Amino acid sequence: MNNLQWQEMHPNLFLVQQDGIGVVYSPLLGKFFYANSDGMAIIAEYLQLGKPENHPFHEHLKSNGFFQTVELPRIANDGRFNSRELTVSVTSACNLRCVYCYANAGVNFLDLPWSVIERSIKQMYAYAEIRGDKEVELSFHGTGETIVKWGVMVKAVNYALSLLPKEWKIKFTLVTNGTLIDDEKAKFLAKHNYSVVLSMDGTESVQNKLRPKADGSGSYQAAIKGAQALVKHGVFFAMRSTITGLNQDSMLDFLEICASIGCEEISVAPFSLTGRGEEGVPDIDAEKFIAHYIVAKKRAKELGVIFLMPSDYLDNVSARYCNADGESFAVMPQGIISTCTRVTKTEDALSRTFVIGEVTPDEVIINQQRVDDLKSLNLYNFPECAGCFAKFTCAGGCHHTRLISGGKQPQNYCEIMQGVLWETLREAALNG
Ligand code: SF4
Ligand code: SF4
Repeated sequence: MNNLQWQEMHPNLFLVQQDGIGVVYSPLLGKFFYANSDGMAIIAEYLQLGKPENHPFHEHLKSNGFFQTVELPRIANDGRFNSRELTVSVTSACNLRCVYCYANAGVNFLDLPWSVIERSIKQMYAYAEIRGDKEVELSFHGTGETIVKWGVMVKAVNYALSLLPKEWKIKFTLVTNGTLIDDEKAKFLAKHNYSVVLSMDGTESVQNKLRPKADGSGSYQAAIKGAQALVKHGVFFAMRSTITGLNQDSMLDFLEICASIGCEEISVAPFSLTGRGEEGVPDIDAEKFIAHYIVAKKRAKELGVIFLMPSDYLDNVSARYCNADGESFAVMPQGIISTCTRVTKTEDALSRTFVIGEVTPDEVIINQQRVDDLKSLNLYNFPECAGCFAKFTCAGGCHHTRLISGGKQPQNYCEIMQGVLWETLREAALNG
């Protein structure tokens, strides 16, 4: 990335600059302002003098509320394991053979026994009662494609509804490749007010290459039909796209396709090497990714569509990238409980870190020591993130990628997170 530099001026206050343009940025206050060359000269003098309190720049920061005390974003909750969301992975079977699939889905078929699903749903309510909550969330995601076992998901939804106490709320989520969604299924999803995340990787040639069906044919047409059925029946869905070296150049084309079929939200995430990905998908080029992302984001604004990626929310600061730090309750087809949706079986490399227990037909067994160990996975424990201006929007990135990459995010990941945040800040600061 070209000359992007930053320095921490005070805790929670950064000066970020590139090619003579500066932005003073306080992530936790959500405040920032643009500094032109005159402003940069004043700031340089302030820093050179050791940040004296009687300097005009210090007074400027103070009078604009930059030295307020702010609460740091939270880490994982203390105490016994309890989760706000149950994720059920009903099967490892999948109708696609995505080239980078973390779960190697479709290779080993295994279905989660119904008795384990029942026990897990009961536990979801038990955890909510312990918390004193009257809301629960049931997600279907992980390992394989849930819709391959559509009947099991429907049965689980009906079972969860049969146990729903009066005046409680339940939210359903489905993460799917979309290729098996038809009118009938979309009607069911609409009836139960699902939030759907549809994973698709881009234009026809990219999707067909990266996400072939089990028989080797392309999945693009089927995924588009699925998305159209969701739009037709008013199901809220977000398109989620994994960006690799193969599709980083076609983000804009993909956005146009999504917008043309009525999709209102597209999120992109940089690809990380795990599972089948190690077998040869080209890595991303950070500069190209940032350039294409920015172009697509601008176009999305014109189209009235949300286009985003992790780290690109100035007003969503966190010290936790996800719930894998001991707050997730994801039951995999083997009956194991994993906090990370990429760790789907006991044979996986990081299973001793993320597998925290097991659900049997009779009980839920939690290894509390593992849960407690996972709680250290937060921004405050990643030394390389301490002085990074993107830390509270990036939150240190995916824990799985970090651990599998030897304890740090790959360099191009950091460049992308920092570069995208800089472009967002610069644009917003320049526009006042
Ligand atoms: S650690 Fe990474 S892969 Fe695992 S659940 Fe979190 S974001 Fe997903
Ligand atoms: S992972 Fe990289 S970009 Fe994210 S906070 Fe840490 S150093 Fe910054």
